[in-house]
Amino acid sequence: MARKESEDKAVSKLRPATKAMHEGESQHGVSGPVVAPIVQAANFTFASVAEMKLWVEGKSDVDIYTRYGNPTLRVAEAKLAALEEAEGALVTASGMAAITSSILTFVGAGEEIIATTSLYGGTYRFMRDMLPRFDIKVHFVETTLESVEKLVNDKTRLLYTESPTNPTLRLVDLEKAAAFAQKHKLVSIVDNTFATPIFQRPATLGFDLVVHSATKYLNGHSDLIAGAVAGRREALDQVRETLIKLGGTMDPGACYLLIRGMRTLDTRVRRQEANALAVARFLEAHPKVEKVHYPGLESHPDHALAKKQMSGFGSMMAVDLKGGLEAASTFCDRLRIFLLAASLGGGESLAVLPLYTSHYGLSEEELAAAGVSPGTVRLSIGLEDPDD
Ligand code: PLP
Repeated sequence: MARKESEDKAVSKLRPATKAMHEGESQHGVSGPVVAPIVQAANFTFASVAEMKLWVEGKSDVDIYTRYGNPTLRVAEAKLAALEEAEGALVTASGMAAITSSILTFVGAGEEIIATTSLYGGTYRFMRDMLPRFDIKVHFVETTLESVEKLVNDKTRLLYTESPTNPTLRLVDLEKAAAFAQKHKLVSIVDNTFATPIFQRPATLGFDLVVHSATKYLNGHSDLIAGAVAGRREALDQVRETLIKLGGTMDPGACYLLIRGMRTLDTRVRRQEANALAVARFLEAHPKVEKVHYPGLESHPDHALAKKQMSGFGSMMAVDLKGGLEAASTFCDRLRIFLLAASLGGGESLAVLPLYTSHYGLSEEELAAAGVSPGTVRLSIGLEDPDD
């Protein structure tokens, strides 16, 4: 049901923790379940042929088939849109479904993308291995966006970026990036997985679309694969059309878990951030540590930018150990409490070598461009007691 403008304004004034708990679900003045039910249905009935006709004419927004939309999915979509302060949102079967559907909506054969180099490995591999097969060229630029103006030509369609980056936690000046995209009429997309909408809302800084691996903090319990896109209504409607065609729809059962996770997003990420700062300070002072990459540390090259565009620093960090790959391997094998596992953003602390996980299959030059050294250990700080 369309919401009144006054109701929209009231939602946008609420604080993130309240939005995460109630948006899309709570119903005042009616009898119903407190928790949004799982509508585990592939298809929906039409009341009549007249209704079928209205649907095909675009005059009715009833649900017909879950790949096109589903009441459970809409609950998560409403929560994310409210949290990102975006006009709308959609959920997808994985973060990669969100990213690939968004990119493929706006570029075609003979056209070009500008992307920052330091990206999640899966996104980078999609750009490196698949887009050229469709005659789409990707220009990679530094996260500082230096000399980006020189790359724009009449074939450029899209600016793609990630901030903070996986795994080295470099930041992109999002206001500057969005202004650059607007100046050249490029669609702007940013991966906000690491920051979450609790700490950073790129749509409010001018980005068209904000993508997420909802597998991570949005869900927060390491028990599902999910993705999401939030942003401007017009761009989002086009991405939904692509998603319907490519089929990266989220299952309503999985979405129930995502909704349950999102309800506690604010509390989890704030506690994880406090834990991360304690761990980062401890590691930075350790004699066997070469460098800690955490935007909350004064030593981080983007600390000032982080303070400007984020309201918190998140709980991801990378650590370079003295002694390179061998030292990093020994460190990981000796960890207790931390689990050696890919992914991030759950309640349990995790450690991985990006060389063998998120950034596998990259050449030495590509790893260097992404800022990954063989001895880099990525840590996802969880909800355990930081003193342990
Ligand atoms: N974006 C970032 C920053 C990620 O870390 C990941 C996965 O690790 C993805 C996107 C891809 O998401 P998914 O694994 O849910 O497809």
